[in-house]
Amino acid sequence: MTTVAAYAAPAAKAPLERTTIERREVGEFDVLIDIKFAGICHSDIHQAREGWGEATFPMVPGHEIAGIVAEVGPGVTKYEVGDRVGVGCMVDSCRECENCRAGLEQYCLKGNVQTYNGVGRDGEPTYGGYSQQIVVTESFVLRIPDGLSLDVAAPLLCAGITTYSPLRHWNTGPGKKVAILGMGGLGHMGVKLAHALGAEVTVLSQSLRKKDDGLKLGADHYYATSDSKTFEELRGSFDLILSTVSAPLNLDQYLSLLKTDGAFVNVGAPEEPVALNLFSVIMGRKTLAGSGIGGIRETQEMLDFCAGHGIGAEIELIGASEINDAYERVLGSDVRYRFVIDTATI
Ligand code: NAP
Ligand code: ZN
Ligand code: ZN
Repeated sequence: MTTVAAYAAPAAKAPLERTTIERREVGEFDVLIDIKFAGICHSDIHQAREGWGEATFPMVPGHEIAGIVAEVGPGVTKYEVGDRVGVGCMVDSCRECENCRAGLEQYCLKGNVQTYNGVGRDGEPTYGGYSQQIVVTESFVLRIPDGLSLDVAAPLLCAGITTYSPLRHWNTGPGKKVAILGMGGLGHMGVKLAHALGAEVTVLSQSLRKKDDGLKLGADHYYATSDSKTFEELRGSFDLILSTVSAPLNLDQYLSLLKTDGAFVNVGAPEEPVALNLFSVIMGRKTLAGSGIGGIRETQEMLDFCAGHGIGAEIELIGASEINDAYERVLGSDVRYRFVIDTATI
């Protein structure tokens, strides 16, 4: 075991503080990564505050990890010491079920191993990226292409893949009208990716505060959902609405913005259930769907796509002592557009 510095929530809703954790010895197929940067995802906050239900403490959040390979096990073939790598929301899965075999490890029928707040295949609790090193089996390590700086690449490991996967699945491309709901960490990546895929992109945000940024990142249009005229004007407009909103929404209102056969795809993970009038999908043969991160193969495809298009996240780099303040700003929709921790400060 190796002792590693980390930032952890000692209990639900408690502020995060510096601590140490143990990482396992590097096994045959393991990669030891010196973590350089870790993004702060809103999911970290939901979990550290037990908003999604009971969690395990102490909790070291962080599933947007970018770093450098420091050591490899004797059976490792994909990576060498010095390689630039990333780790996302999962660090293992059963690898045998129908979904794992199809490259959909995120939907592993036996449940994948979450990067933190999970239990590894060795029965030990998992600890995430707000730490200086992590040991991960090579099959769940991603390669960060040379063209991408590690700090702006880190958020791609969750925010990037979580928006890329549904955009691809629902055939985002030229001629498609796509709305991105919520301009936060996921949302701003959704705007960049949908634009790069060739769609006509509209941002639906609570206000027009971030309009200039949205247009710069690739949006063609930007509307405030606090203005009721938005819903009259955009009625029946979109092929796809990708919702990244972290709080419950009035689904009926948003479904009215879809064209016939359009899809509302939810990736936001609010802590409370939402209501739905089923006539909102009956009329217009509309689809209401969800999507969770992406498989390992698709995550690598996304990283390569981002490198090819010069896409990284827009980040605010912070020191570890600023994590608790950053959480408050994320909760206040005041993030531009992803906080990334410089793990050298832990
Ligand atoms: P974030 O940076 O906080 O962005 C969420 C955005 O939603 C905010 O910036 C805000 O955008 C909007 N919003 C927040 N509260 C709202 C409210 N009450 N009403 C309307 N809009 C509101 O969070 P994130 O890291 O992007 O994560 C977003 C959600 O996705 C979280 O629930 C997270 O847990 C979830 N998530 C899911 C997956 C998955 O696999 N499905 C993966 C990662 C994250 P505006 O200011 O523009 O309105
Ligand atoms: Zn996340
Ligand atoms: Zn599986």
